[in-house]
Amino acid sequence: MTKSIRFNGIGITNGKVSGRIKLFGSSKRKIINSRTGSALDEKARLEIARKAAIKETKALEEKALKLLGEKEAQIFEIHGMLLEDEDFLDAVLEEIDKGKSAEEAVRQTAKSYGEMLKALDDEYLSARSADINDISAQIIRFLTGDVAENEENDTEPYILVASDLTPSETVKLETSKILGFVTFGGTPSSHTAILARAMGIPALVGTGTIGSIYDGEYALLNSEKGTLIISPTENEKREFEKEQSAYNKIAKEHEMYLRSIMKKPAVTRSGHKIMIYANIGSEQEIASAISNGAEGIGLLRSEFLYLSKDKYPSEDELFSAYRDIAIKMQGKRVVIRTLDIGADKQIPYFSLPKEENPALGYRAIRICLDRHELFKTQLRAILRASAYGRISIMLPMIISAEEIREAKSLLRDSMAELSTRGQEFDAKIELGIMIETPSAAIMSDILAKEVDFFSVGTNDLTQYTLAVDRQNPKVTHLCERNTEPVMRLIKIASEAIHHKGGWIGVCGEMAADLSLTQQFANIGIDELSVSVPYLLGVRGKVSECK
Ligand code: PEP
Ligand code: MG
Repeated sequence: MTKSIRFNGIGITNGKVSGRIKLFGSSKRKIINSRTGSALDEKARLEIARKAAIKETKALEEKALKLLGEKEAQIFEIHGMLLEDEDFLDAVLEEIDKGKSAEEAVRQTAKSYGEMLKALDDEYLSARSADINDISAQIIRFLTGDVAENEENDTEPYILVASDLTPSETVKLETSKILGFVTFGGTPSSHTAILARAMGIPALVGTGTIGSIYDGEYALLNSEKGTLIISPTENEKREFEKEQSAYNKIAKEHEMYLRSIMKKPAVTRSGHKIMIYANIGSEQEIASAISNGAEGIGLLRSEFLYLSKDKYPSEDELFSAYRDIAIKMQGKRVVIRTLDIGADKQIPYFSLPKEENPALGYRAIRICLDRHELFKTQLRAILRASAYGRISIMLPMIISAEEIREAKSLLRDSMAELSTRGQEFDAKIELGIMIETPSAAIMSDILAKEVDFFSVGTNDLTQYTLAVDRQNPKVTHLCERNTEPVMRLIKIASEAIHHKGGWIGVCGEMAADLSLTQQFANIGIDELSVSVPYLLGVRGKVSECK
């Protein structure tokens, strides 16, 4: 039995699953394990594929040199050298002599080389292990020719492994087939992680590169421990199964307890009531939000509807989606956040300019206040849907009262347009803003005069307060250790909006952090809005608070 391969990352949802790995973006190739031809035939096939790979790499190197520069082209130079490496080639030939097919021999050799290099615990050599994986996948691609399986042909559920997924790629995934989720990059507050959380599936981010050579391998994903074990030994499998059944038993008991308190309001022991709302991205999540006791929708990330399309949705399309959500929520509050695109949420048909610092750039309300028709189309759709339920409008990324006033002026224009058309809407629709920037929190006494409510987006508020990129796994730990500055800003905002008679919620990922629930209660937070799988846990925690 060969040694298993272990990757460590940050677990973002609890759970343990096992299954085959599917590398996102790499169409699965059929690897022929038992060969049909002689060793000589296999060696000849290997030579043709290797030569083709060398030629391709040379072309890529030249292209990279022309388009990107010397440094970027260097990687292909290294690949070229590895493809010519005699030791590697001899090892593959040896495997063929042992009876393996050419592709299986390449795969096996790459695996052994990768393990050996990884075990040396040297950053440079570890990186070479990723290169070995790359060139092996390249040779295998030439060996297997065009036998790529169609993604839709996957019938078995799998553990999805990806370098990183953009939010638009994530929303297009066929989630019913995904057992678990692993990304090389990403952080707990990146949108990929948020979506994984919403799906309620075990997930791991920030594992570092996992070579394409592992595509199709059996693996154990433990998001509690933050590990992915590829090709586990029998012992590891047994151990995992034991842990898995113990975990499932506890999780089931805990859920039964939480379900027993589901109907009770979430009130602290000192009598402070906190509304428990759900964060959702689409209508499909409503049924599970309700069955998990959501008292409302605290954040509808409305951009996801745009992300899943190839062109701008029309007012009617948006209206019918919002109306359906309002109707399904049966009079419970639905907070629709207006378009928050830009930064990591890019939509091709928006053709947003490439920016040096997208998180500080042209995004969210900044785009909407610049592109009036885009914004008013969404506002009219929300207003029309407000005739069917209890809808609130929430503006993201606000930094000043001026922005709110501009947005309100466009809202008034949209209302006037609907009145001219004779269409109904709630003229007293509630308007709120997200507190996502230090500026919004510091100026909250002024901003509170303009709106009915605040909802704190702790993901961005943390990023901008601590100057910690929410997409960068190297600095994530700084967020866990430094919640206090963010809490202080939330307290300022809470006092400001309460002084004016409004309400305040928290809808960033911190809302689901049970170690902070007591602090939220202490500063008078009125509502906590979390992904569906966290609804019951947060409700239970509030009732345990002082
Ligand atoms: C936030 O920033 O905390 C938030 C809820 O918005 P998003 O995660 O979509 O940026
Ligand atoms: Mg945000």
